[in-house]
Amino acid sequence: MSLEGQVAVVTGGARGIGRAIALRCAREGADVALMDVNADLLAQTTQELRALGHRAEGWTVDVTKSAEVDAAVANVLDKLGRIDILVNNAGITRDGLLIRMEESQWERVLAINLTGAFLCTRAVAKRMLKQRRGRIVNIASVVGIMGNPGQANYAASKAGLIGMTKTVARELARRGVTCNAVAPGFINTEMTAALPEAARQRLLEAIPMGTLGEAQDVAEAVLFLVSDAARYITGHVLVVDGGLAM
Ligand code: NAP
Repeated sequence: MSLEGQVAVVTGGARGIGRAIALRCAREGADVALMDVNADLLAQTTQELRALGHRAEGWTVDVTKSAEVDAAVANVLDKLGRIDILVNNAGITRDGLLIRMEESQWERVLAINLTGAFLCTRAVAKRMLKQRRGRIVNIASVVGIMGNPGQANYAASKAGLIGMTKTVARELARRGVTCNAVAPGFINTEMTAALPEAARQRLLEAIPMGTLGEAQDVAEAVLFLVSDAARYITGHVLVVDGGLAM
């Protein structure tokens, strides 16, 4: 699974699942570029990555702003020389039942979770095509497959991301660039810490393995998909959910 000599870009990599993915890639030898809006945690995670002995840079980027994304990608190429891996991980929830959902809730979630992934993928794709090598992994969710009450916006964004994954996979396959999705179930992060206790208990009953997953569980799946071991896998959705969606 060695990523020695490769450069990985992870969006939303300052904390949570993105941070775990960044650290996992760095442990396999990758240089890592983080793009995140959370400037304080970005600096902290960048330091942690450097402590592993590889190059690491963090850029404050809002993935919904194409100019910021394009400038950051140019900066990565300038500082780290190449981009082999892109992990579109930045994502948010703004939950609410459909009949009460504001347009602003709908639009913000679609903008970050789906448009953000499109802008980042477009920004790196040309370079990967030229290199004739690249790995793109989109962090979707089982909610994009199963649906979930209160998350029409989030489910739509993640289902959209799965559709985009398959299309990008088809468009780039002949030039050695793969594009896959990882669909986590419920993972212990800040995003799920907000769940009320009753909802958490109901959820645990629905998960065959009986526990929430850890960010590390998602990071291991991403590592596999970006490694040479997955060279013949593209357009796949790898579910990491303790059996929830089956
Ligand atoms: P998290 O702990 O909230 O971390 C997300 C990171 O993305 C934060 O650092 C956040 O910054 C950053 N971010 C937010 N908006 C951004 C933007 N516009 N541009 C760049 N960065 C931005 O979330 P997580 O739980 O690790 O989730 C990571 C991904 O996994 C998301 O796509 C999520 O949908 C997906 N996922 C999570 C779960 C789960 O159970 N946790 C399950 C399925 C899928 P701030 O700190 O400033 O908000």
